[in-house]
Amino acid sequence: MQIYDYFEKNKNFVNISFILLHQYTAMRFLLIITGFLIPNYLNAWGFYAHKEINRLAIFALPSELMAFYKPHLAYLQNQAVLPDKRRYIVKEEACRHYIDIDIYESYTKDIPEGWEQAKEVFTEDTLLKHGIVPWQIYKMTFQLKNAFQEKDIEKILKVSAELGHYIADSNVPLHTTSNYNGQKTNQHGIHGLWESRIPELFSEKYDFFVGRALYINDLRAEIWNNVWKAHSAVDSVLFYEKQASLEIPEDQKYAFEERGAATVKVYSRRYSSYYDNLLNGMVERQMRNSILMVASVWYTCWKNAGMPDLKNEQNIPELPIRKDKEEIADVSSDCNH
Ligand SMILES: [Zn+2]
Repeated sequence: MQIYDYFEKNKNFVNISFILLHQYTAMRFLLIITGFLIPNYLNAWGFYAHKEINRLAIFALPSELMAFYKPHLAYLQNQAVLPDKRRYIVKEEACRHYIDIDIYESYTKDIPEGWEQAKEVFTEDTLLKHGIVPWQIYKMTFQLKNAFQEKDIEKILKVSAELGHYIADSNVPLHTTSNYNGQKTNQHGIHGLWESRIPELFSEKYDFFVGRALYINDLRAEIWNNVWKAHSAVDSVLFYEKQASLEIPEDQKYAFEERGAATVKVYSRRYSSYYDNLLNGMVERQMRNSILMVASVWYTCWKNAGMPDLKNEQNIPELPIRKDKEEIADVSSDCNH
């Protein structure tokens, strides 16, 4: 079993007790792992939410662009999770998904919005260590604009899908702090609770009508605004989880659920719901913001490329969804910083 298939299947697990691994080279294994914590924080927003954000962004586009993107909906959804899968096999990938704002602030220096200036202030090594998500997003907006100008359909779709991923990550408060999984405040597991468990349990009742994509005059400023907004919610994310853990008895905090052949320990529905209510719609707001921002960035890049006519490109066959390791490890859509 390839590692990314494994994580795809187990994306929401907080604590796995028994994992039944399926056929692998015609053999079956029973692997018993007790107390093994899946690093759930590596799956930003959870695979489910990432796919939903890319899917819903398509429907927020103006009609001409929607007509181009919609036939590739399945591709855009599936590729939405590629950057997270890549993290397990490409070591340079991880830092693109987060920014430890608190660490940067501990240097008591302003964080430059420009990559070159940031390198001068912090050094490249420091940036790669403490996360680069806003710089990554901004860089990819140029890749998308260029792809539109070249009418390179494969590149447009590939960059759009992955850009959607990083934008969504940048809207997750716990992706903007070094205490990303509550490990510094004894709240281990909060990352998966906030971004995977809650959306999966409750997003059906969320309102995802976000209106139409907007043209963004200053992409870089908007990307940073969203990061700062997400970061400003970190205190609440942590505070209310502490409150929930004080108010819900410990023996009601977790539950066991069957997932295929596996029995997994997860945050209970009651606990998750209690926390979601304390957050007062924050998860929904950040998901909505992600959807609108993904659509707006795609739209803005298209406009900045001179609004190329894509009508003739609407009938091209859907791009194949490759699942091989080579595809996952392909970082060609990203350029080096
Ligand atoms: Zn991610």
